[in-house]
Amino acid sequence: MKDLPARRLLLVHAHPDDESINNGATMARYAAEGAHVTLVTCTLGEEGEVIPPALARLTSDRDDALGPHRVGELAAAMRELGISDHRFLGGAGRYRDSGMMGAEQNGRPGSFWSTPVDEAAAHLVEVIREVRPQVLVTYDPDGGYGHPDHIQAHRIAMRAADLAADPAYGSGAPHTIAKIYWNRVEREVLEAAFDRLRATAPDAFPGIAAVADVPGVTEAGQITAEIDGSAYAGAKSAAMRAHATQIAVDGPFFALSNDLGQPLLATECYQLVRGVRGVAGPEREGDLFAGVPGADAPDTAGATDAQGGAA
Ligand SMILES: [Zn+2]
Repeated sequence: MKDLPARRLLLVHAHPDDESINNGATMARYAAEGAHVTLVTCTLGEEGEVIPPALARLTSDRDDALGPHRVGELAAAMRELGISDHRFLGGAGRYRDSGMMGAEQNGRPGSFWSTPVDEAAAHLVEVIREVRPQVLVTYDPDGGYGHPDHIQAHRIAMRAADLAADPAYGSGAPHTIAKIYWNRVEREVLEAAFDRLRATAPDAFPGIAAVADVPGVTEAGQITAEIDGSAYAGAKSAAMRAHATQIAVDGPFFALSNDLGQPLLATECYQLVRGVRGVAGPEREGDLFAGVPGADAPDTAGATDAQGGAA
């Protein structure tokens, strides 16, 4: 087995752009601090809409060329975040975007949503046993907001974590992921950010989204970890801009193809659902690796919030 860095983080996402919106600051921070960050994206996002009029013909109902284009956007976003290990589940194009819930594409052969969980999870087990992450980040059981591909990404990530730990399953040395987190957004923080959007940039976009449009929103009490990515807000913003067919960024705000403005959050929140919290008491972890044996915080400025990390 090759030498692995002390800290290894795996993120599982449904489409190119989800990683930058949800975890861009977290990914940039851990990469900058020397962690090995692996992104697995489950589909190419072939069924997405397209924002720039000049690229409108890429959509699936015209040239159906959005998937390959988004492979390039994702690569550019990863350069902005400093991530070199990004992969597509089972290889690029193996599973196709299923479209929104109820869409006819949901049931098409090869769609991610119609793929048996164990079949797709097998590909992720291979990645887990290769890079041996201590921390996994994915969505909650609702996929954050009910998109079939996000729900399926959640199911496959959780299933693969179990299978990878099972010595009786498949080939390769078993590996148990120490901590699993779901992406979260704190309702109160989001509401305040929407207030700032309405107060400072009411006309930045044709409309303004609602709190209910944002995936993973939850009450403060459910959030167990908070990653201060303020030093990486620029990288996150640049990564989101790289997904130009999907995201329009304007300062600290952005809009998806629905043209509704929402805040671009540099502090990213998580809910620990498996593993042991690395800090005592009710305070939030400031480091996803807190408490993981052998994964102490690197000796760099900006990693001073990991004093709970030594077990
Ligand atoms: Zn998505």
